[in-house]
Amino acid sequence: MQRIFSGIQPTGIPQLGNYLGAIRNWVALQRDHECIFCLVDMHAITVWQDPAALRQQTLAQTAVLLASGIDPHAHILFNQSAVSAHARLGWILNCVSRLGWLNRMTQFKDKAGKDRENHSAGLYVYPNLMAADIMAYKATRVPVGDDQRQHLELANDIAQKFNHDYGVDFFPAIEALIPPGAARVMSLRDGTKKMSKSDPSAQSRIEMTDDADAIALKIRRAKTDPEPLPTDPADLPARPEARNLVEIYAALAGMTVADVLARHGGEGFGPFKSALTDVLVETVVPIASETRRLLDDPEHLQTVLREGATRARAIAEPVVSEVERLVGFLK
Ligand code: ATP
Ligand code: MG
Repeated sequence: MQRIFSGIQPTGIPQLGNYLGAIRNWVALQRDHECIFCLVDMHAITVWQDPAALRQQTLAQTAVLLASGIDPHAHILFNQSAVSAHARLGWILNCVSRLGWLNRMTQFKDKAGKDRENHSAGLYVYPNLMAADIMAYKATRVPVGDDQRQHLELANDIAQKFNHDYGVDFFPAIEALIPPGAARVMSLRDGTKKMSKSDPSAQSRIEMTDDADAIALKIRRAKTDPEPLPTDPADLPARPEARNLVEIYAALAGMTVADVLARHGGEGFGPFKSALTDVLVETVVPIASETRRLLDDPEHLQTVLREGATRARAIAEPVVSEVERLVGFLK
């Protein structure tokens, strides 16, 4: 059975893009994979986080994942900092990865913007730690949204260079599993920017804890253009906001974009937005209410994470100890 590793940063409440790009896929992959899911708190602090908020968000995300259908008994769910093997391998991979490779990472450029000099060194080397997260478990498949494609190519380059530099065949190749639809959900305020839980505007995203009123309001206010919906999918690329809403609808309703346009093409955004709100409410509201129920018992959520960390450690520890031996650390 192939081993899956995937992570999400506890930087806020999971948003619709996290759900459609990653979490929904995680739930499905549990059927025929050995899965390790991680709340990557060490990645979260690459951008300053209020400590109390970080603790709370780690629990809230755990609740959303459980409410979405992650099974923490058949699989593993834990927070990254609880397993020190990530940090140890992360350091070794900092020494394998090349500055030239990191310089090409577009996410750093997007997140740092023009103010590059004032960002943490952690934000810059983050893709090396992400490679370590995967490689500490010798995971072979990583389900992610499209925005992580480049980081996974880098992880493969690092794995290959490690094998080459130390003359071993130790780390396996890593395959990115990117869903065919809605792999990049865009902001509701700007169809050219991806939806993110760390975007300063809460109006830019649907959060997986939103209630029906909040969803309806955000969709009503979502940016659109003045034309009715096209009937031909070829007209969508030039209209990023329309395209985003149609793709979200298609992903939630299990339809193709062409099917959605066959049904709604020619309509104004008013009726389409109301149909979109209905499918969103159908998916999000049950997850939101189960999340609230789980958050009433934070002790239980902490126990889930602690038990997950113990089982994660049992897999990662021998792998990372062997890496330390291979690079020549005296044991
Ligand atoms: P942040 O803004 O803090 O980076 P984020 O919303 O980008 O938060 P991450 O924790 O970085 O979320 O990513 C978790 C998973 O969700 C990754 O697999 C990522 O590819 C996926 N993902 C994030 N945003 C989107 C999106 N807009 N569409 C599809 N998938 C996404
Ligand atoms: Mg992100």
